[in-house]
Amino acid sequence: MGWLGLDDTDTVKEGCTTFSLHLFLNHLPPHIEVGELRLVRLWPFAHNRTRGNAAVAVELKTNDEKELLNLLNLYWEQTLQPLVGKIDQTTDHQRQQTPTDPGMVWYSSIPDRSNFYLDAVRREVRFDEAPTPTHSWGGGGRIGAAAAVVWPKRNLTWEAIAWRFESRWNTTKRMVCEQAITTVTGMKGMFLTRNPRSQHSLISPRGTCPVLFGVRGRTPEITTAAAKVLVEGPGTEDVLGWRVFATNQASDDHLERSIIGTVESVEVLARGTTVITTEHGQWIAFAESGDVKLMAQGLVNGDQIEAFGLFAEANVLHIEKLRTVQKAPTRWRPKCSVCQRTMKSMGQDQGVRCPVCKQRQTQAWIVSQPENHDGAWVQPPPDARRHLARPIEWLDEPMDAA
Ligand SMILES: [Zn+2]
Repeated sequence: MGWLGLDDTDTVKEGCTTFSLHLFLNHLPPHIEVGELRLVRLWPFAHNRTRGNAAVAVELKTNDEKELLNLLNLYWEQTLQPLVGKIDQTTDHQRQQTPTDPGMVWYSSIPDRSNFYLDAVRREVRFDEAPTPTHSWGGGGRIGAAAAVVWPKRNLTWEAIAWRFESRWNTTKRMVCEQAITTVTGMKGMFLTRNPRSQHSLISPRGTCPVLFGVRGRTPEITTAAAKVLVEGPGTEDVLGWRVFATNQASDDHLERSIIGTVESVEVLARGTTVITTEHGQWIAFAESGDVKLMAQGLVNGDQIEAFGLFAEANVLHIEKLRTVQKAPTRWRPKCSVCQRTMKSMGQDQGVRCPVCKQRQTQAWIVSQPENHDGAWVQPPPDARRHLARPIEWLDEPMDAA
């Protein structure tokens, strides 16, 4: 028994990594037992990341590892190797297109105490940093493949993925029963099924790929039940198959710790993207980030704020969660004790003077320190969040035990 990892097999015609794994598992001889499946999202800024930046892994149990390795060799040569160098032609992303560089790893057993997963979700890593697999095939995809295998599942959720028939892969229109989506949305433990504001479904990808839907839940049982409701929904198109994956989605594993800073300036750019300058550099709230952008735009110099996010480059933080720790003190000019007019400054450190009766005083400001603010966290709307982002509604919960 051991673990197979797979990554970077997605191009538009040949499908996506989850589907590639599904097909391989369908063709295994029955005496090879399929255990847990994993879908692991990795460092969002990785240089050669795949479309969804997700790798997959599966536990396979067999008494004949040699036979399995022969099957893996065949699978590699016939199915994955031909993808090498193909260009991903999807329309649903703006990133630079990099040629597909699939990779596959086999570990006879999971290596102990590996930090490789946390490294792979938090920074750029090389394959030689991964625990050495029993066998590996291909190129850059081996990095994500290894990370998916060694993922320690400190904090996990589940996703059921259903694939559509090949004749429908090149349409972006997907038929998933609206009534079934509503049913699933009401099931306790399911999350990110519909956008609570627009009521739009969040379970189907937009581009042309084999995935019909991916529906997320907090236990394998509820996720499996939800997938059945969707697949059997009268308005759902025929599915080729579906499987449930353990995932690191909604784990915040990519975020190390929050940062506290003091606002030095706030600049609103095109479409509302807001740049907050603090002593720790520039913190960016993107146009799509909803409440995060709105909170950023309401900040004033001197406000103390706390953020979770990723540094896209040195001193440039992409904000994922934001809150105000302490509002800046407010200050105003004193009023004249004689005629109640607001007094005016006579220059720096010169005190103030009444514009009417010319009375002077040395105290130039009245300062009010707000009560300890300790404001609530805000986050982007569901469709603008990373797959890895833990909803703020869950932040007070203890981490799930693996
Ligand atoms: Zn006066």
